[in-house]
Amino acid sequence: MTSYVFPPAAVVGAPIAGSDALFPVRRIYCIGRNYAAHAIEMGHDPNREPPFFFQKNPNNLVFGDAFPYPPKTSDVHHEMEMVVALGSGGVNIPVERALDCVFGYAVGLDMTRRDLQGQAKEMGRPWEVGKAFEHSAPMGPIYPVSQVGHPASGLVELKVNGKVRQSGDLNQLIWKVPEMISYLSDYFELAAGDVIMTGTPAGVGAVVRGDVMEGRVEGVGAFSVRVV
Ligand code: MN
Repeated sequence: MTSYVFPPAAVVGAPIAGSDALFPVRRIYCIGRNYAAHAIEMGHDPNREPPFFFQKNPNNLVFGDAFPYPPKTSDVHHEMEMVVALGSGGVNIPVERALDCVFGYAVGLDMTRRDLQGQAKEMGRPWEVGKAFEHSAPMGPIYPVSQVGHPASGLVELKVNGKVRQSGDLNQLIWKVPEMISYLSDYFELAAGDVIMTGTPAGVGAVVRGDVMEGRVEGVGAFSVRVV
């Protein structure tokens, strides 16, 4: 039996709707600027340029209803997104076979320290300080494909304190789910347990302590997260 010099960190398990079993998370990939209107609001070309990705850490996920306001920032933004959870993976996965890898879908928030991300962009530095901080990825339960199919259209919405802030439709994704999986698999070896955050529609903005964020993706699910 292998021994460790200290106990290894626990596997992060995401809840699955209708099941007591957990989904063991391996990696989190996030795609940038995947809705034209959001690319424009961030000052970029909305045309179909090659996608780009960054990562968060599995233990950045939050499955409860509280998002602790992070340190070293005064501009924390919500990014409401559909999340894809993979049940299998591989390399060089063709677009036509990519959906076979999907275990299920969830709603999630790619919380962002926008001020730190902005500084990183300006200085040509990596984005981790803006994106991959503690509790930066609130996520709802995963709905297996057997329950929700493969949603390709439907409202993506975020309300803050009851007011709509973000509104888009899955059919506005510049890079569709099968294309994202296929593209990623050309660069990385994908595997069961990998999670992909599919990008956010327009309307990103700041939250403060006490705000209640209610997100939903039509055909997938909904959740509510309070900034504490
Ligand atoms: Mn995002």
